[in-house]
Formats: sequence, structure tokens, C-alpha cells
Amino acid sequence: MTDIPHILEEVIPADRISRDEPMSAHTTMRVGGAADVFVRIASAGELGEAIRLLRSAGEAYVVVGRGSNLIVSDRGYRGTVLCTSGSFAGISCRESEDGKVYLKADAGTLLGALASYACERELTGLEFAAGIPGTVGGAVRMNAGAYGSETADLVASVSLLSPDGSLTATDAAGMDFAYRHSRVSESGEIVTDCTFVMTRGDRQAIIARMEELAKARRDKQPLEYPSSGSTWKRPEGHFAAKLLEEAGCKGLRVGDAQISEKHSGFIINRGSATASDILKLMRMAEDRVFEASGVRLTPEVEFIGMEGDDR
Ligand SMILES: Cc1cc2nc3c(=O)[nH]c(=O)nc-3n(C[C@H](O)[C@H](O)[C@H](O)COP(=O)(O)OP(=O)(O)OC[C@H]3O[C@@H](n4cnc5c(N)ncnc54)[C@H](O)[C@@H]3O)c2cc1C
Repeated sequence: MTDIPHILEEVIPADRISRDEPMSAHTTMRVGGAADVFVRIASAGELGEAIRLLRSAGEAYVVVGRGSNLIVSDRGYRGTVLCTSGSFAGISCRESEDGKVYLKADAGTLLGALASYACERELTGLEFAAGIPGTVGGAVRMNAGAYGSETADLVASVSLLSPDGSLTATDAAGMDFAYRHSRVSESGEIVTDCTFVMTRGDRQAIIARMEELAKARRDKQPLEYPSSGSTWKRPEGHFAAKLLEEAGCKGLRVGDAQISEKHSGFIINRGSATASDILKLMRMAEDRVFEASGVRLTPEVEFIGMEGDDR
């Protein structure tokens, strides 16, 4: 059998490579079995080299950020998880001759850290992102958004690593952004960094907006429990949470997975939920909503390690 950690040690220090790593420790939902190999990536160069080695060994791999939009199978992942969160993080700021200010952030930079960095420099635009517990790479891929703003609004350019190892850069138009979608969702490309174009603002106003949005989240969202945020996308012309409530799904439970009583759009983990509980609950809720309203909810969360009829 190929010894993948041994191969990867050619380009990544051994202390950032682990075997049989429980993915429940790397997802905000706190579910998921073990990944065969788990690597903490620290740079675009490492990412490119690791993928080159994994591809030539015929090993499956997936890139993850903070795991805040992920449900990982209870069986885990048969392959290598390349994780950017926290370890592949850096932010720089530059001003162009025409007075525009740009923030460039590595893929594993946490959105909260980026929003704080912008605030310290009196740059407005990223207030909406302060409470989204993901990375820049995950946010670009998902076109993460909240309270009327989304990632795409601020993107000046994105650096992408394609499966064949080539690095390209594209502007926002080339990213094919749509609601919770970017071209990366289909292309298999990996975001290595993103440059955001910012507007000068007032520090106190930025802080006030971030506090206002943080309060709105605390009031409306079940932040006291592990979750993956909104489980389903907003169907056109509807609100998922309202449809779920009208279909009698509020509080519905399978094992320790529950449709939150505070916000029906969230599935929460009340302690020892499994991925299988969550999937069963999702199917149950989707069927109830369809029967009650004729609307078929589609997941916003993404899945790793699922097979055949899991989903
Ligand atoms: C409490 C809570 C509140 C939330 N609120 C919001 C919200 O208001 N708005 C919103 O949009 N989302 C929200 N989310 C969901 C989530 O935080 C976002 O979707 C976030 O952008 C995901 O980033 P991540 O780093 O955690 O990605 P992950 O969950 O790690 O990955 C998500 C997907 O992106 C892929 N991916 C990760 N990194 C890269 C990369 N560098 N290149 C290519 N693909 C990559 C993964 O393979 C996976 O398919 C919330 C989640 C929680 C738990």
C-alpha cells in the first residue's frame, strides 16, 4: 500500500501531517469520521506540490477551510484532506495610484480576522463577513453572503490552482458568481488567495455595523450549538426557514440532530449527532416541505465522504 504521509513529507513538514484524523474536530457541526490523511497547508506552493504528489500516487484528495459548511460522513474520508484554515493565512494591503485600496488574503485566512484587519485600517465593506465562521477560500467558493452583501461584491481578483497544477488569476466576472455559487463549485479549481477592493470608511461606523450584525446573529441564530449555518439554500421567491416552519419541521429531531427551534433553517447538533442523523433529518424535512408547499429545498451545506445513496 502507498504510504501517503511518507510521500507528502517530501514537501510538507511531518508535524503538519496526521493519519486517521477525526473530521469532527475540523467541522463546526462536530460530526464526521476519520480522514485517512490530514494535512495542514501553509502556502500555495505546498498546496500545489501536495496535489502534484497525490495525483501521481492516484490518491483522492479534497481541500477544506474551516469546515463551517461541511457534513463529513461518519465513515470519514478515504483519501487526503488538505486543510487551509488558520495555517495558510496572511493579509496584505496596498493602495493603487488611483486611490483604491486592496486587501489580499490567503485562502486559509479566517473571515473574522480579515474583517478586523479591514476595520483597523478604516476600510469598509467586509462588515457582513465578520460573523461568518469560514475562510476566504471557502467564502469565495460559496460566494458567502449575509445581510444584503456577498463576497462577490468586493472581489477584485482570485488566484486559482487548477487540477493540472497551473496557477491562474481571474477577476470577479470570470468567477461566474451567483447565489452561493462560483465557477470553483464545478471546475475543481482551488482558491489560493483573493484580492478585495475596499472603500475608505469611518472606524466607529464600521465597529457599530459589526456589533449590530453580531447582535442580530445572536438574537436569531442558535450560535450556542454546533451547526453548519443555514442547511438549505434560499429557494427563489421563498425563505427556507419559513417553509420549514409552515411544514411543521421546527424542533424535528433524529437522534441528536435537530431543526433548531430558534431558526428553522439551521440543523443543530445537540451533543452526539452523527452525519447519518443529519442526512435522515434533512431528507425528512425536504419531503415534508415538498408535500406542504411543492418547493424542493436544496442543501447549502456540502458533503464529503458520502457514497451512493447517502445523499
Ligand atoms: C454559525 C454559522 C453561521 C454561518 N453564517 C453564514 C452566512 O451568514 N452566510 C454564508 O454564506 N455562510 C454562512 N455560514 C456557512 C459557512 O461559514 C460559509 O459557507 C463559509 O464560507 C465556508 O467557509 P469554510 O472555510 O468553512 O469552508 P468549508 O466548509 O471548509 O468548505 C466549503 C466548501 O468549499 C470548499 N473549499 C474550501 N476551501 C477551498 C479553497 N481554498 N478552494 C476551493 N474550494 C474550497 C470545500 O471543499 C467545500 O466544498 C455559516 C456557518 C455557521 C456554522
